[in-house]
Amino acid sequence: MNINDIKTIEHDVIVLGAGGAGLRAAIECSMQGLSTGLVCKSLLGKAHTVMAEGGVAASLGNVDNRDHWKVHFRDTMRGGKFLNNWRMAELHAKEAPERVRELEEWGAVFDRTKTGLINQRNFGGHRYPRLAHVGDRTGLEIIRTLQDRGIHQGIEVYMECTGLDFLKDKDKISGMVAMWRETGEFVIFRCKAIILATGGGGKAWKITSNSWEYTGDGYGMAYEAGAELMDMEFTQFHPTGMVWPPSVRGTLVTEGVRGEGGILVNSENKRFMYDNIPERFAAETADSEDEAEKWLAGDKDARRPPELLTRDVVARAIRKEVKAGRGSPHGGAFLDIANRRTAEDIKRKLPSMYHQFKVLAELDITKDSMEVGPTLHYFMGGVRVDSDSQMTRVPGLFACGECAAGVHGANRLGGNSLSDLLVCGKLAGSGAVNYIQSSTSMPPFDENQAIAIIRSATDILNRESGENPYLIHENLQDLMQNNVGIVRTDELLSDGIKGVMTLWNNFNNVKADGASQFNPGWHEAIALRNLLITSESVARSAKMREESRGAHTRIDFEGERDEWLKYNVVIRKNLDGSMLAEKVLRKDPDPELKRIAKLSIEDLEKEVTQDKKEK
Ligand SMILES: Cc1cc2nc3c(=O)[nH]c(=O)nc-3n(C[C@H](O)[C@H](O)[C@H](O)COP(=O)(O)OP(=O)(O)OC[C@H]3O[C@@H](n4cnc5c(N)ncnc54)[C@H](O)[C@@H]3O)c2cc1C
Repeated sequence: MNINDIKTIEHDVIVLGAGGAGLRAAIECSMQGLSTGLVCKSLLGKAHTVMAEGGVAASLGNVDNRDHWKVHFRDTMRGGKFLNNWRMAELHAKEAPERVRELEEWGAVFDRTKTGLINQRNFGGHRYPRLAHVGDRTGLEIIRTLQDRGIHQGIEVYMECTGLDFLKDKDKISGMVAMWRETGEFVIFRCKAIILATGGGGKAWKITSNSWEYTGDGYGMAYEAGAELMDMEFTQFHPTGMVWPPSVRGTLVTEGVRGEGGILVNSENKRFMYDNIPERFAAETADSEDEAEKWLAGDKDARRPPELLTRDVVARAIRKEVKAGRGSPHGGAFLDIANRRTAEDIKRKLPSMYHQFKVLAELDITKDSMEVGPTLHYFMGGVRVDSDSQMTRVPGLFACGECAAGVHGANRLGGNSLSDLLVCGKLAGSGAVNYIQSSTSMPPFDENQAIAIIRSATDILNRESGENPYLIHENLQDLMQNNVGIVRTDELLSDGIKGVMTLWNNFNNVKADGASQFNPGWHEAIALRNLLITSESVARSAKMREESRGAHTRIDFEGERDEWLKYNVVIRKNLDGSMLAEKVLRKDPDPELKRIAKLSIEDLEKEVTQDKKEK
């Protein structure tokens, strides 16, 4: 192989991933004068962010003027069961309103209140209507706006180009080897910094709301480059995925349905969420249908319906009903909006849901209930970063959006991902700018590293025979679904880890047929390494955390354990190539942040009213 035959592209910074996080980071770099390349493995505009339905959370206070960053922060910490990185959750809550207003200045057309402000809707775990939205197609508007802005800003975009692995100059980032998906040709990016914004890894499970792109590439690449992964045990199962028909099982039904008044009932037509209100949320949740109705009608003194409890709580409650034999015919629960809103309202507020059920399930949600059940949706964990700069422990490597850990702790509130990617995308961009400004020249290029990366990709094609990548992926999905699912035990997880190790052996001999052009089997095989790193890290972290917290439920260690609140589980690669999982002591929180998070809602509301008066 002659490395000089491979095209080399130079930029100050490469952003890997063109969802909301990558685009916002790239805009920041470009605005501050860096030559910025944006690399994505699908077409620009096709990232996961485009699928976001319900909205973006920000304490604008347009619908309920009691809202304030402090309440958003408190909701986020409580939703995350206090395992969130305190500083990241603070920055997220403080900066989200500005990021949303900035989108509006850049041309995003949000739904409006009667007085012409950005409209906000209710969502699980948020005290007030907080989600700025565009019907149920919010992600599309966000991506469109960021793309327009980014392109006009002069960002260079490299589409259908898969990042394989990073190049380093000693401990520092110096570039990346990638592959054009269409032609199978390789390309070398030389740069001073890389921002990872590759999203999550839901494709390791069988039932997921995630698309083909979510193969955990950022986790795998960061891990191989020496970065750490954190909180990987916290994988969110969204309570409402479609359960029928089988071909679309897992497809998301937005929480916006419940935000607009939708209720969950079991096969006995009982609203079972009233029996599933955790102690921590009891004081803020309606305990009768009467009160929930008043809340829906806009009574500010009434408390929120239990259908809007956090996702972990609702997902477990649905599972409980199914286990007890009170599920819907296809193993879920019924979600009813038809009897709650007029057909006209439903079509206007939830157009994608109406269309999705009509086309995929031949069901009219303005007339009939939907059948829904838990689906793997989101990674709270991810690449471990510094809270203010978003830099990993590898100098020059940054991460933001779903691929980074910290903001959401043990469980994410709906709407907090879009706000996270806007806030942390900007922070990562600024972090990279500061880093590059302090290190002037382009790092040297080590061709041996590039050759090794290319060889490990081409070996998959060049083997005489070997394992089928699709079968390895299918086996992995079965394993993760059964052993590392919504409820976990030591035995299940130990078997899960053993299963992953067997699949590693199969992967070491994986073979894709055909040539390098237009070869989806080869792409599948390449993604497998990252899926396996992702799966192993989730299983090992889940086995280590001996408690139940947020999205991580251990039936052999029920309930939250105070001792475990002191630790994050951190994953890194050992010198011998094996994976190391470690309990790492968390820093003490800033006392002021701790005070805000622990205040009763009544006291915080009084304080916020006072803050607003003084302003
Ligand atoms: C159906 C659905 C509805 C949702 N609704 C909401 C909502 O209403 N509110 C909310 O806050 N959150 C919502 N979420 C979650 C939210 O959409 C995602 O968490 C968020 O969009 C992630 O953004 P991101 O920028 O981190 O990653 P993404 O938008 O997924 O972008 C990842 C990018 O990385 C690229 N990439 C990955 N690997 C590679 C590689 N190896 N090489 C090159 N490129 C690569 C991809 O091509 C893509 O461009 C929803 C998620 C789903 C699935």
